[in-house]
Amino acid sequence: MSVQNYIDKVMKTTMQSTPGQTEFYQAVEEVLMSLEPLLKAEPKYDEQNILERIVIPERQILFRVVWMDDSGKIQTNIGYRVQFNSAIGPYKGGLRFHPSVNLGIIKFLGFEQIFKNSLTGLSIGGGKGGSNFDPKGKSDGEIMRFCQSFMIELSKHIGETRDVPAGDIGVGGREIGYMFGEYKRLTGNFEGILTGKGVNWGGSLARTEATGFGSVYFAGNVLNKQDDDLEGKIATVSGSGNVAIYTIQKLYDMGAKPVTCSDSRGMIYDKNGIDLDSLKLIKEANRQSLEEYAKLHTDATYLPVHSYPEGTNAVWGVPCDIAFPSATQNELNLEDMKNLHKNGCKLVCEGANMPTTPEAIEYMLANGIMYGPAKAANAGGVATSQLEMSQNASMQKWSFAEVDSQLRSIMKNIFDLSYDTSKEFGFEGNLMVGANIAGFKKVADSMIDQGAV
Ligand code: NDP
Repeated sequence: MSVQNYIDKVMKTTMQSTPGQTEFYQAVEEVLMSLEPLLKAEPKYDEQNILERIVIPERQILFRVVWMDDSGKIQTNIGYRVQFNSAIGPYKGGLRFHPSVNLGIIKFLGFEQIFKNSLTGLSIGGGKGGSNFDPKGKSDGEIMRFCQSFMIELSKHIGETRDVPAGDIGVGGREIGYMFGEYKRLTGNFEGILTGKGVNWGGSLARTEATGFGSVYFAGNVLNKQDDDLEGKIATVSGSGNVAIYTIQKLYDMGAKPVTCSDSRGMIYDKNGIDLDSLKLIKEANRQSLEEYAKLHTDATYLPVHSYPEGTNAVWGVPCDIAFPSATQNELNLEDMKNLHKNGCKLVCEGANMPTTPEAIEYMLANGIMYGPAKAANAGGVATSQLEMSQNASMQKWSFAEVDSQLRSIMKNIFDLSYDTSKEFGFEGNLMVGANIAGFKKVADSMIDQGAV
């Protein structure tokens, strides 16, 4: 069977056996198509049925989460943990609390996580979880009761050497704290079963900053390869959560000017550069709408989502040198990419998971815009989570500077590995192909070593 037929067959079976999981198919197709040159060079992956195996999670757990709201009413949500692949280490990947969460979304995130974790060079397998619970508008008490109920079931499936979840959209330090507390109450053990913990109780310094910082380090590496750097560059950033805020912070450190941010209700364009202190106050401290930013900064423009030009995300209509999509999946489409190209954007560096649609990626690559794919560019978060696990296991605490310096070198290694692999397989500079092949190869070879697993 030709390699293309093999890929088509696996795609077809996946779609037939898991109906309706659109985002999952999108993630699988991107990886499988990138593997073509590797599969041609090394028939062992076909002979060992690796593609058929790797697209099926080792285990997926779906559970009922029941909790009481402030009015005394019983509320119900669905909880998920997909333990996708443990060939190279314990499952590792975040928990997402957002009303859009369903099994297909958790599977796409878990599938991406396998290759991302592999690329870090660390011993961590791939997993992801979450719930369709919406933290927005809930009191602290409601969030706590939900997290406790969620952990009652999750606690049966995680462990320091088994599965170590972390945060993602809607899950930050507060939620990790409530879940960690409940795990400790249930088991009586103080263990590193979650990462992103508070620094007073087992968390790592620089974990909060790591995904955003890592994404900017990655962009720096891409530019350095072209004898360029971030100094003086104009950057557009979407989102205003954990990843976006620390992307903006590191951009300033590196001499660039971030001029946008956004949330699910609208976007801010501040030609003077986003005021980080105001953004942190509005988002991290007070969890308010970005509209508040425009009240504090009269030079800035606030555009609500309903007034975006039809079919586009207004963030990508702002002229920039580099774009950092850092909110959510499929937030940058073909029209957006055409706008970026027209306005002179040179690099798209993905802080969010799968933020760019397949058509937009195709257009970007065809038009010479450099591309930092999510599994390479945003791997700094999970890599630093693993550094948190190492500190927990050895009962050590490293300084901010030490963790940050390890993060920086991990991001450089990921870039080099992705670049060198793209070159080895005849696609020099195509970091999507390089990252997918390098991430896949280590996992697939480990699966072969371990027999029929
Ligand atoms: P947060 O919850 O901290 O922030 C998410 C941001 O994205 C918010 O500004 C939110 O706006 C916005 N957003 C979420 N959903 C949508 C939507 N459907 N449309 C428009 N805006 C939306 O999450 P993170 O910053 O942690 O995560 C952002 C992205 O980065 C995700 O793709 C995540 O998977 C990825 N990522 C995160 C890592 C981490 O360490 N945290 C690691 C690697 C990847 P609002 O508040 O209005 O909902």
